[in-house]
Amino acid sequence: MTDQGTNADTPEQAAFREEVRAFLSANAEPKGEASMWAVNFHTDADDAARDFEAGRAWQGKLFANGLAGLTYPTELGGRGGQPWHETIYREEAAGFQASSGFIASTIAMLGPTLMKWGTDEQRSPLLPRLLSGEDAWCQLFSEPGAGSDLAGLATRAVRDGDEFVVSGQKVWNSAAQWCSKGMLVVRTDPDLPKHRGVTFLLVDMDSPGIEVRPLVQPTGAQHFNEVFLSNVRVPVANVLGEVNDGWHVARTVLSNESAFIGGGGRGSVYGRLVALARQHGRTGDPVIRQQLAAGYTREKLLDVMGERILAAVRRREVPPMDPSILKLYVAENAVRNGNLAMAIGGASVVAAPEGDEVSGWAQAELLGRFGISIGGGTNEVQRNNLAERALGLPREMRNDHEVPWREVPRS
Ligand SMILES: Cc1cc2nc3c(=O)[nH]c(=O)nc-3n(C[C@H](O)[C@H](O)[C@H](O)COP(=O)(O)OP(=O)(O)OC[C@H]3O[C@@H](n4cnc5c(N)ncnc54)[C@H](O)[C@@H]3O)c2cc1C
Repeated sequence: MTDQGTNADTPEQAAFREEVRAFLSANAEPKGEASMWAVNFHTDADDAARDFEAGRAWQGKLFANGLAGLTYPTELGGRGGQPWHETIYREEAAGFQASSGFIASTIAMLGPTLMKWGTDEQRSPLLPRLLSGEDAWCQLFSEPGAGSDLAGLATRAVRDGDEFVVSGQKVWNSAAQWCSKGMLVVRTDPDLPKHRGVTFLLVDMDSPGIEVRPLVQPTGAQHFNEVFLSNVRVPVANVLGEVNDGWHVARTVLSNESAFIGGGGRGSVYGRLVALARQHGRTGDPVIRQQLAAGYTREKLLDVMGERILAAVRRREVPPMDPSILKLYVAENAVRNGNLAMAIGGASVVAAPEGDEVSGWAQAELLGRFGISIGGGTNEVQRNNLAERALGLPREMRNDHEVPWREVPRS
């Protein structure tokens, strides 16, 4: 919470702030010294699963108390509020251990997408279940041969009456091992050019024929998975948008993902870097001081840009700047922060004994600093997006945009 925010409140805003404060005091633990150094992954699969469920339970509590989906219509499970409701909630929740974890990202990706592309028959049951955390959704987009070039995807869906029969493989699917539903993009017409023969399906993860295999990372965490689909039957009623027009739906998800990644929920890394510098007696070092000041400036800029973009997304408006710029900025910031943690702590941070939570945090910053440059679209792809969409520069030279997908050479 900021005094500035409190002083500027209208009576309606002040009443909402009081409601949020009362809810948080009654239901969440204040952030303490220990949680300051918490990392957002577990090396033990059971701990990770428990953490995921704790996030889901927190979302359920928000929903039960009228604090989930603050800007969504009340008839779809939301509060029917304004972007300022979200701002106030975020200001107040910043001091508490109050996170929905992965669920928050799925709501951010799928919620606005359902609002834009869903039918009433899809929105009415799915949005309340999404906002309450009852359904947890994973993103089944990337494939071994289709990441940056997502439109080249090869997972095939063949229509059989009122169903599609889906076969193929997805990869890098975050949290798919715990999710009950999947956002799945498939190839429904290989004779159309690659962007046009793609369909977006909403799939039950317990459908026969789906196998989820967790991937183990260097940190020991199992954040993402391979997902194999063998003759999985998905009702045609589960198509989001139109058959063969799923590319536009997927783009909405990806744009929301960039806005979410850029828009916050990271907490202040700057504060922890300063604490780390104090612990290592480096606050008097002019080079470290300069880098900390630059880090502080970047964090503030991100907050302001993130708030502007997220406010537009919540109003279902076109963001004032392309979300790619924010995603790129966050990714570059993560690399600089990881480097700075190392510059401050040096070898002692990496070599510290297991169980040292400050070192554990610094190591996670170091090892995890590149993931965000890849997930949700790589830095290079974000730059292409910015060049083409925001700056209107000529499109990248491609020879596969107008030919049928089945004629495009693939490895
Ligand atoms: C933390 C994390 C979470 C993820 N979660 C999910 C998820 O939940 N669901 C999901 O479906 N996927 C997920 N992914 C996968 C992610 O979307 C892909 O890794 C990403 O799109 C890149 O695809 P790729 O790995 O196939 O790399 P490639 O596309 O093969 O790229 C390899 C390199 O080539 C560069 N490159 C490719 N094309 C161009 C170009 N046109 N111009 C310039 N450079 C180019 C890339 O920038 C990159 O450096 C996740 C990834 C990470 C790291």
